[in-house]
Amino acid sequence: MQNKRLVQSGAALAAISAMLLAGCGSKVSDPNFAKVDTDRILSEGLGKGEWMTYGGTYDEQRFSPLEGITPANVGSLGVAWTYEFPTNLGTESTPIVVDGVIYATGSWSVVVALDARTGKVLWTYDPKVPREQLAKGCCDAVNRGVAVYDGRVFVGTFDGRLVALDAKTGKLMWSTVTVDESKPYTITGAPRVVKGKVLIGNGGAELGVRGYVSAYDAKTGKLAWRFYATPNPDKKPDGAASDDAFAKIGNATWGNSGKWKTDGGGGTPWDSIVYDSVNDSILVGFGNASPWNSKVRDPEGNGDNLFVGSIVALDPATGKYKWHFQETPRDQWDYTSTQSIVLADLPLGPNGTPRRVVMHAPKNGFFYVLDAKTGKFIQGKAYAPQNWASGLDANGRPQVVPQARTPPPEGFMQFPGPQGAHNWPPMGFNPKTGLVYIPTEKNAQFYVPSDPANLPKSKWNLGYNMAGGIPLVIPKGALPQVQAGMGGGLLAWDPIKQEARWSIDLGSAANGGILTTTTGLLFQGTKMGLLRAYDATNGKVLWETNLKRGVTAPAITYTIGGEQYVAVTTGWGSSWALNNGLYWKDKVTRVPGRLVVLKLGAKGAIPDNAASGVEASPKTKEFGTEQQVAHGLQLYAFNCMVCHGPMVQSSGVLPDLRWSMIASDPQAWRSVVIDGALKGNGMVSFASKISPEDAEAIRAYAINQGWMAVRNGDAKAPKP
Ligand code: CA
Repeated sequence: MQNKRLVQSGAALAAISAMLLAGCGSKVSDPNFAKVDTDRILSEGLGKGEWMTYGGTYDEQRFSPLEGITPANVGSLGVAWTYEFPTNLGTESTPIVVDGVIYATGSWSVVVALDARTGKVLWTYDPKVPREQLAKGCCDAVNRGVAVYDGRVFVGTFDGRLVALDAKTGKLMWSTVTVDESKPYTITGAPRVVKGKVLIGNGGAELGVRGYVSAYDAKTGKLAWRFYATPNPDKKPDGAASDDAFAKIGNATWGNSGKWKTDGGGGTPWDSIVYDSVNDSILVGFGNASPWNSKVRDPEGNGDNLFVGSIVALDPATGKYKWHFQETPRDQWDYTSTQSIVLADLPLGPNGTPRRVVMHAPKNGFFYVLDAKTGKFIQGKAYAPQNWASGLDANGRPQVVPQARTPPPEGFMQFPGPQGAHNWPPMGFNPKTGLVYIPTEKNAQFYVPSDPANLPKSKWNLGYNMAGGIPLVIPKGALPQVQAGMGGGLLAWDPIKQEARWSIDLGSAANGGILTTTTGLLFQGTKMGLLRAYDATNGKVLWETNLKRGVTAPAITYTIGGEQYVAVTTGWGSSWALNNGLYWKDKVTRVPGRLVVLKLGAKGAIPDNAASGVEASPKTKEFGTEQQVAHGLQLYAFNCMVCHGPMVQSSGVLPDLRWSMIASDPQAWRSVVIDGALKGNGMVSFASKISPEDAEAIRAYAINQGWMAVRNGDAKAPKP
């Protein structure tokens, strides 16, 4: 009797402690904590309420089977808690949730682990990326997230390291440099881990590097294999997994001269790397060619330049080539194939039987459906307006129009532009609606070829005239017209019928990635900070809330203790913000990144942002001859524009040089531009590219643009 009571009370105690543990989200004390492996990712999927890998599952559909949040109750979704990142540039990360802990990254590759129920910080990790690195990147010091595997958290840092941390403590376990640090490589993508190997790519094609994907042993950090995007400059073996593929099919698609040999040819796989577990293939989306202009890159050849603009399937154990599909042969427009790759079974087999397919909406504007086993083209169609190809042939090869292939000296206005019809914000697929949801972009580029024999000495050298098409003076009222031609939306695409089911014009580009659910919801954030839940069948807005900072990341969802949460990272920045502030009708302020977690019935508030404090008016008188200002425009376009914006118009994230105090003073300007006084902020010295006189011409142009805005009524005249 006594014993039985003891047993009963023991059982009650165990039950109470289990309840306490369950109530307290994180299970850090569990010996199996964060023991994620390929089998667990495959067997558990999202059904137990975790979010264990970047795209949710290896198929990366971002489709949740959780049923707690529905069209009927989504209206009561509110903010449960928030976390403020310590860094303040663009925030793009997909959080990972495992065993009650949520892991997310902010700009500068900082990592945080929090109790996923309460938001209590468990640990943070700052890889201390040197801030000068900002100038080595094309597109802001962003990071798209971590991978969790075997008790470890993996992050690729902006300066090219792959770092393994203890998932419980955040303690460094190993760190390895994945790139040649003397070259402008960056890492912004999230690692994926497959069967004990951590897969990581890199970025930097624009600035002259050779892209590759690497696999590292998750336990030791030792390199297992590497597959290059472009040939060895001498077309010799690298001793890499890609050697056979280049010897057999790759090398012959490149000529034997041109800038690709010194600049690497590009092809950097900076985002999508997925695992097709059915066919045991790693699918890698490779980036654009470099320099962009093929007449500069590879003047004697006319080949396809494999594997730029391609999806390539590799053996996960060895990295050996299985198949490839090149979406943009001989790319010369920054048409990356790095966009999210989604795997699914669609009724495209014989007699409508299920067929395992790869779905892809790369920058080039065409939606592709490929056979996942062979890479064979099944079907494809333009999902966005485009004028560079007359269509796809029976093999899915684009029929490129002559003006796009060889722009005339006066230039060719092409769309999509380099931001693409779809950029990195991931698309999603809902097997219940049968629709793919794509965050689309509307942009164009005026391609004016540079003289290959006479390329300027500049930071950006794409083989095109970066100043091409940019007027020195824009007439009053012209800017809103330009802005109206740019934009973005949300597209629900039927991948079988190859047509839009519905679409929404969001007015501006750089909106968020996708989360969709079995209950028929579709979550997407907007650049201006709204988070919305749509009816996935028809696009009706069911709920929205203002998160007050730009949302370009996709939301995720998870459950703890039977309660379902939605999480998303926010923060203005990314390539759009830096490169294309001109097209933002609404200017923003530089803010820290934030992780926002929502649940039903929560009532938390999002604080307002601090005002930017810089008045939009020139701080000094106009100066410089017309010739000097025109020279400044050229130099600005080749050195400054990609970060500070076309026509010196910033989105608000980086300083708008028209209103800058530093730009009002020649000595201060010189100390920054030539002497590198602000290199600690990422603004490095440009002394190796431009002279002090050049710097002064750029200043004259910046101030001129400020006064032009005053004349056009777009900015206030300074007080006398
Ligand atoms: Ca690019």
